[in-house]
Amino acid sequence: MKTLFTGIQPTGSLHLGNYFGAVKNWVKLQHNFETYISIVDLHAITILYNPKDMQKRILDLALNLYACGIDKEKTTLFVQSEVPGHADLTWMFNTVIPIGELERMTQFKDKAKQNKKNVNMGLLDYPVLQAADILLYKAGIVPVGEDQIQHIELTREIARRFNSRYGKTFPECEAYLTETPRVMGIDGENKMSKSKNNAIGLLESRDDIWSKLAGAKTDPARIRRSDAGDPEKCNIFSYHKLVTPEEEREEIIHGCKTAGIGCVDCKKRLLKSLFNVLGPIQERYSKLILEKKEIIEILESNAEKCRKVAKNTIIEAKEKMGLKPVWKI
Ligand code: SF4
Repeated sequence: MKTLFTGIQPTGSLHLGNYFGAVKNWVKLQHNFETYISIVDLHAITILYNPKDMQKRILDLALNLYACGIDKEKTTLFVQSEVPGHADLTWMFNTVIPIGELERMTQFKDKAKQNKKNVNMGLLDYPVLQAADILLYKAGIVPVGEDQIQHIELTREIARRFNSRYGKTFPECEAYLTETPRVMGIDGENKMSKSKNNAIGLLESRDDIWSKLAGAKTDPARIRRSDAGDPEKCNIFSYHKLVTPEEEREEIIHGCKTAGIGCVDCKKRLLKSLFNVLGPIQERYSKLILEKKEIIEILESNAEKCRKVAKNTIIEAKEKMGLKPVWKI
């Protein structure tokens, strides 16, 4: 079975964008690959954050992932900083990749713009740490959206450079391009994100979600109830595409175009469809929250397993580099 690696920042509870953009897919893929999911706290510290919240956010994310269907047996879910090999391998890779390659990364340029007061080395080195994340486990498959392709190409480049300088050590991983819809925020203007304050959380109550939907913009051309609308110009319909069965969606399209359905009713139908997905996730979460101790133990034993895998890779890399092949943790 090929190895799959992916990472997610410890943002605490997940939202619809995280679920439909990534996690739902991982739940499927975990059956086909030896799967590692890392809660990438070392990546998270490249921007300003509150250290007091970090452990809470990590645990809450783990609970959310398990509630979404990540399988405790099938997937190795672990916290990145508990496996020192990630940082060790990053340093080794830093010595084979020219700075110019990192400076041209689109994500670095974007993040440097967004974090003008904190353009630190970690931001520049972020994709090298990603390469180390993947190659530490010699993963062949990395599920990504279009915006991450450049980083996967860089990972392949790092593997090639290391291999040509020191001998064949790392595989050239493949990006597993997934159908990851770009889920827009409730503002209809930006990608869904907690930082933009436009997210619908997976664990939010029916009432809270309804108050967000009730105030959400629809097709701007549909001013009165009697006006016909165009679902393709409506953010509410973009959510229907994620959660409402096709047959019902056809009815909504027809109703919207003929003014047969009002926006309030359309939003109520969306709320019902949303809870067909969120209901079971919330139910699982409420059980998992009572098993926090067990979840912490699973994360610790998974980190232990990862340290063993990492040890082999680090020793092999050190040996090839002429360094003493020891690695104690
Ligand atoms: Fe959007 Fe539904 Fe209103 Fe049509 S009826 S504009 S799809 S909310």
